[in-house]
Amino acid sequence: MIPVLYLVIPCYNEEEVLRETTRQLLERLKVLKENGKIAEDSRILYVNDGSGDKTWELISSLYEEHDEVSGLNLSRNRGHQNAVLAGLMYAKECADAVISLDADLQDDVKTIDKMMEEYHSGFDIVYGVRNSRKTDSFFKKNTAQAFYKFMRMMGVDIIYNHADFRLMSKRVLDELEHYKEVNLFLRGIVPLIGFPSTCVYYERHERFAGESKYPLRKMLSFAVNGITSFSTKPIRLITTLGFVICLVSVVMLIYSLASYFAGRAESGWSSLIVSIWALGGLQLSAIGIIGEYIGKMYLETKERPKFCIQDILDR
Ligand code: UDP
Ligand code: MG
Repeated sequence: MIPVLYLVIPCYNEEEVLRETTRQLLERLKVLKENGKIAEDSRILYVNDGSGDKTWELISSLYEEHDEVSGLNLSRNRGHQNAVLAGLMYAKECADAVISLDADLQDDVKTIDKMMEEYHSGFDIVYGVRNSRKTDSFFKKNTAQAFYKFMRMMGVDIIYNHADFRLMSKRVLDELEHYKEVNLFLRGIVPLIGFPSTCVYYERHERFAGESKYPLRKMLSFAVNGITSFSTKPIRLITTLGFVICLVSVVMLIYSLASYFAGRAESGWSSLIVSIWALGGLQLSAIGIIGEYIGKMYLETKERPKFCIQDILDR
């Protein structure tokens, strides 16, 4: 059976790029259809993530112009991860395979062919992995690399240099639906799901037009979210630190006792001050970390919907 492929594209203020993106993706779909790799009703699904510009109007007119274009309009900006999820969950009802990619053409569209080849040879998940960061600014390159290294250090299993350019089969998406968490970090969840998976490598381009919608502030909160959603290593680090500080306090205690018996006065003071600092520091950081996790439990128990679709354009 020839698979139906959906390309899910989150768009946040992307009016400058969407026409060109559509042109290139339609061309890709055409080639794949001609080669019999994907079914005739394969299409592009744009997810408008509460853009403030004319993105949704543009998606609507692209929908009118091309049979292969569909659109979802989220009721407000919910962030990249939620926009992707909205698209994936919608697409999985009609598709056999779904590829998520950025609107700005940074993910090389030719890689879609390679992904489909891997899909045909039996893989359920195909990760798009960039093989260099030549096109990134010095700042982005270094922060991104630090991000992946730090995530690994913190015990989060993510694919190095893989963002959200990936193919997933319908059954993977059916599983993904069961991950009900509010703090969504797809890069962390997808490897947890399992199924046969592989990587394809590609050269990442410069943003075609417009500017990045991921300022440092968003990147930092993304990283913190990734770590605290997936790893309890921070707690373990604190525990270790606690042990070390306790040992130091014991040493200090012995030292001050020794000073006392040796007749060097003012002995009580040093031990007291040491205990106060050690306990205070330990308690404060432990409370902070526990608080972080309690905060997460709080959000999870609320089970807020991650997205809310306002309009649907589909045939
Ligand atoms: N995006 C989104 N919602 C947001 C921010 C970004 O849907 O709140 C989309 C954006 O339109 C693009 C993709 O996420 O298709 C990646 O964003 P961007 O290219 O700005 O990030 P960068 O490539 O700089 O990391
Ligand atoms: Mg980009």
